[in-house]
Amino acid sequence: MTLAHPAPPVHRYLDVLARDDGRTHRVDERVLAATRSTGGRPVARCGRLLVVASLAEPPGPPCPLCAAIP
Ligand SMILES: [Zn+2]
Repeated sequence: MTLAHPAPPVHRYLDVLARDDGRTHRVDERVLAATRSTGGRPVARCGRLLVVASLAEPPGPPCPLCAAIP
């Protein structure tokens, strides 16, 4: 008999374009959902507080710090 281990929580990250630096950062989807409901600004994986650009804007170059975090 083998013990079943519950699957670890899956953290999904979404690409978010920051208006202030023009880069595409990665944001935990739960963080993004929370800030969307409160009107706050999300914090990217790199620790940057983002000013989220319009979804209509084309994506910018990826943030090297966000990309470096596995
Ligand atoms: Zn970043």
